[in-house]
Amino acid sequence: MKNYLTASISESAVRHNIAVLRSLVGENVKLCPVVKDDCFGHGMDVLYPVLAECADGFAVAAPLEALELRQKGYHGFILCFLSAYFDDFAVQDELVWQEITQTVMSTSALDSIQAAAKRVGKTARVHLKVDTGMGRLGVPSEQAPQLIQQIQQTPEVELTGIYTHFATADEHDRSATFQQLERFRAILPVVGNGIMIHAANSAATLDLGETHFDMVRPGIAVYGCKPSDEIMNPVGLKPCMSVKAKLIAVKRISAGRSSGYGLTHTYNRDSRVGVVPIGYGDGYFRNLSNQAVVRINGMDAPVRGRVSMDQMTVDVTDIPNVQVGDDVEVISSDPSAPNCVENLARLASTIPYEITCHIGHSMRHELVG
Ligand SMILES: *Cc1c(COP(=O)(O)O)cnc(C)c1O
Repeated sequence: MKNYLTASISESAVRHNIAVLRSLVGENVKLCPVVKDDCFGHGMDVLYPVLAECADGFAVAAPLEALELRQKGYHGFILCFLSAYFDDFAVQDELVWQEITQTVMSTSALDSIQAAAKRVGKTARVHLKVDTGMGRLGVPSEQAPQLIQQIQQTPEVELTGIYTHFATADEHDRSATFQQLERFRAILPVVGNGIMIHAANSAATLDLGETHFDMVRPGIAVYGCKPSDEIMNPVGLKPCMSVKAKLIAVKRISAGRSSGYGLTHTYNRDSRVGVVPIGYGDGYFRNLSNQAVVRINGMDAPVRGRVSMDQMTVDVTDIPNVQVGDDVEVISSDPSAPNCVENLARLASTIPYEITCHIGHSMRHELVG
């Protein structure tokens, strides 16, 4: 970690996004933010107190992420997506002991949770994950009724919920999502009443009210980005991450000379070039080379030449009075800025998720107002 790079996370933006999502789902639907992978790179340490206050629970991927939330003092509902199957008994037992809601997607997952519950002497709570078309984790929908029956016949294990996950909820074409929804609905009568039903990720939370059921599991929307450009609902989410660096050098480069590995950009006029101490080692993607801009004194400075591991060069010729030590806005939290997360994702041919995860895992976080 470098002491000169910090991702600033806006508390008010996150609270705004939670409020937007709450108003979309209404008061009878629980809001369970997905905080896997260190809150998609936004930093659990800074966001935990904020989210603990305004969410109805948390969803994580890895068992250790769930236990970390308990360590922070969270007593509410925690759903863990991945099974603890390969973890040692100490972790499996701790999940039951700490009342983490675990996911069951197979008989073997059920068996290992049952064994842990027996060792601990406590009933384990589980949600069943059904694969309705995503083709990833989850019991295939045709086999779900059988597994439901098995869970219900396992005294140490209590089935408290059932869920599925959409593969294409962020696309214009809804047909695959509706097909998944139909397969999911067909199973619901088998589980009976009093079981928590959930399906919606951010895209479905934003665009498909019929998928909200008892709880929604938004991830990226909580952090203020749209899952894709095909989201219809124009709710004003506020990106909560911004990243600033400082110019560590400003120099003149004559017309005809270049900068960076491979000399991929040649300046066609006498130019002033600034060096910014961030690179792909800090999560700033190399394929943003010669594509993205940073902002200095409110003006665009194009990234010129290749992004290196720990630095890159930007053209500051058109920005007056640029000096060493000036603030460089590498990522803006203004969703209309050219260096917002969504736009950087477009330029890098990826999704906002990957941008925030990479940047966020590489630097410290601070909570700002
Ligand atoms: C990651 C994840 C989510 C959140 O997805 P977003 O697109 O970020 O809203 C929800 N549910 C499951 C099962 C996930 O793995």
